[in-house]
Amino acid sequence: MTLLYNHSLKPFNTLAVDVRAESFCTVTSVDELKNALKQTTSNELLVLGGGSNIVLTSDVAGLVIHNCIGGVEVLEQGPQQVVIKVGAGENWDGLVETCVQQGWYGLENLSWIPGSVGAAPIQNIGAYGVELKDCLEAVETLRLKDLSPQQFSCKECRFGYRDSVFKQEEKGRHVITAVVLRLNKTPTLKLDYGEIRNSADEWGYDVDQLTAADVRHIIIRIRTEKLPDPALAPNVGSFFKNPVVPVAVFQTIKMAEPSVVAYELPNGQVKLAAGWLIDRLGWKGKRLGQARVHDRQALVLVNEGQSSADLLTLAAKIQQQVLDRFGVELEIEPSII
Ligand SMILES: Cc1cc2nc3c(=O)[nH]c(=O)nc-3n(C[C@H](O)[C@H](O)[C@H](O)COP(=O)(O)OP(=O)(O)OC[C@H]3O[C@@H](n4cnc5c(N)ncnc54)[C@H](O)[C@@H]3O)c2cc1C
Repeated sequence: MTLLYNHSLKPFNTLAVDVRAESFCTVTSVDELKNALKQTTSNELLVLGGGSNIVLTSDVAGLVIHNCIGGVEVLEQGPQQVVIKVGAGENWDGLVETCVQQGWYGLENLSWIPGSVGAAPIQNIGAYGVELKDCLEAVETLRLKDLSPQQFSCKECRFGYRDSVFKQEEKGRHVITAVVLRLNKTPTLKLDYGEIRNSADEWGYDVDQLTAADVRHIIIRIRTEKLPDPALAPNVGSFFKNPVVPVAVFQTIKMAEPSVVAYELPNGQVKLAAGWLIDRLGWKGKRLGQARVHDRQALVLVNEGQSSADLLTLAAKIQQQVLDRFGVELEIEPSII
């Protein structure tokens, strides 16, 4: 493990923001992680996986640890299910590919999400009707205050929509070192998300005979058609969470905007499509300095500068207009550092 000083973070964040870390190191094992944490004299720490859900706003004081702890281990295997433990530094989509190839079901709807396995529990990644929590058994961490190993059960992670205990009470207190997942060995596909069935049909699949590999291919195709590649158009995916509002608020919006896109939740609340709200205000494809709203997906903001200043100004303008027009607060999804 080598400590590097005044190290550029541009290659380590998908917005390509060019700021520097006071000190930086890559760790490939829990022992290396412990050593790095013992050696640092600073109290300030940033853990980085793929950098696909952060907005860096200035040089980062203290230590930045790039988590590359690898390994996929089968802990239990029966005729119906398999339990695996995966190192936090493994690439998320690489893991999905491995599981699909093994015939293990559960992660296929979460295909093509950038980033590391260790960051997945932080915001309970989700896509196409599935969230990480649906197959998560436990999260293993190193607690920063005493460098002791800890384990959080799925319940203890208190997952919500793009939320977990690691964004709330335990924020900044742990480094996630591994994730334990329970997957099915018998077909259990989730195709309730309309777009999967419709696309499968349109692209000539037999919808009743889909395999996990088919679902993965369909989702990758949908995503690559809709979402910009961060290597070509630096972005962090959805910049805002979909706002969840009481039914009464939704009904008021619906009266004024009958075509508003929304999903009813089992708890009686309604999730509004933030992309629709932004698009309705005419932001799609609009630019502010070196930042722009993507021309196919209004929820995605693209950074073309070396800093994130214009991007955050653009985000604030969008938030204000959505509030003024619809009375709804848009919450930024990535971590602002
Ligand atoms: C094109 C694109 C599409 C996307 N689509 C989706 C999507 O469909 N669904 C979705 O949920 N997200 C999506 N995202 C967001 C992002 O990919 C996920 O949130 C992903 O889990 C982030 O992983 P990362 O390793 O890049 O995290 P990073 O950006 O490196 O880190 C994110 C946060 O987690 C913390 N963190 C990272 N690793 C650890 C660790 N080991 N221990 C403790 N803290 C840690 C960081 O400090 C930071 O606060 C998308 C992003 C892009 C660019």
